[in-house]
Amino acid sequence: MSLRRTTGVAKGTKKKPNAPPRLFVVSPHLDDAVLSCGNLLARCAGSVVCTVFAGRPREPMRTEWDAASGFADAHEAIAARWREDETALALCGATAVWLDFLDSQYGETPRVDDVAEALDAQFRRFDECVPVCPLGLGHCDHELVGAACRQLLDSGRLERYIAYEDAIYRATPGVLSDGLARVAQAGLRARPVRASALGAPTLRRVWATKRSALRAYSSQARAFSGFPPDVARIERFWCVRPISRTQRGVGEKAKELSNDRSQSLGVSHSSDSE
Ligand SMILES: [Zn+2]
Repeated sequence: MSLRRTTGVAKGTKKKPNAPPRLFVVSPHLDDAVLSCGNLLARCAGSVVCTVFAGRPREPMRTEWDAASGFADAHEAIAARWREDETALALCGATAVWLDFLDSQYGETPRVDDVAEALDAQFRRFDECVPVCPLGLGHCDHELVGAACRQLLDSGRLERYIAYEDAIYRATPGVLSDGLARVAQAGLRARPVRASALGAPTLRRVWATKRSALRAYSSQARAFSGFPPDVARIERFWCVRPISRTQRGVGEKAKELSNDRSQSLGVSHSSDSE
C-alpha cells in the first residue's frame, strides 16, 4: 500500500515544554476525524490525521453519494475532497496523510490485515504522537478500520490507543454498546478518558474552530443535507488496551466483566472536550 500523499510534519519534530500533545488520528473517510474529534484536534495543534479510505478509483464512476455531494464523477469527488480535507485540517492546526484504500462505495474493500499493516507503518513513522483511533461504529468502512486498530493491540504492535466515538453513527441507539462489545470480545478493555487527561489544554473558541472546519467539508454537508446535530455534541474518548495477561487467564468471565463495565461507564461518561 503506497502512501498517496502527505502534507506536513516529519518525524523527529521536537515537542516544546508545555506544548499540547501531538496526536496521530486515524480517520476512516475524508471528514471523520474532524466530525468526531475536531475540538480535540483544535486543542492539540501540530497533530496528524491519517485518512484510510482516501484513494481514487481507476474509473471515474458515479455513485449516488458522489452525485448527492454535487460531483460529476469519482475523480472530481476525490480531488475536491482532498482539497476540503487540507483546508479543514489546516484550520485545526493539523496536517493530512492519505492512504490509497478505496471507500466502500467504489466496490474494492480491502482486507483488515492490509489496513492494519498500512496503519502500523504510519504509527511507526509518527511514533512520537499519541495514537487516536475510531471505535469503528455504524458503517462498514468504520467497522473495518476499528477492527484493524484492534488487531494492532492484539498483536502487540500498539500498547494502547485513545478511541473516539464515531460521530453521527454513535447517535443510533445500540451502536455504541455494540462497538464496546466488539472491543471486549477482542480481549481489550475500554475505559472513559477526558481530553484534559491526554494533556490537551483548555482553549477558548475550539467549537468555533471545529465549526469552521466542518464548513470546509461542504460537499459532504451537502450530501447529508447539513451535518446531523450529533457533530456538535460532546466528543467522547476511551482508552483502549489489552486486558492484562492474568485477566486473560480468567477467559470469558474477564471479557464479560469488561463488557459490563464499559457499558455501564458509557452511561455516565463525561468529557471536557468542548
Ligand atoms: Zn466516515
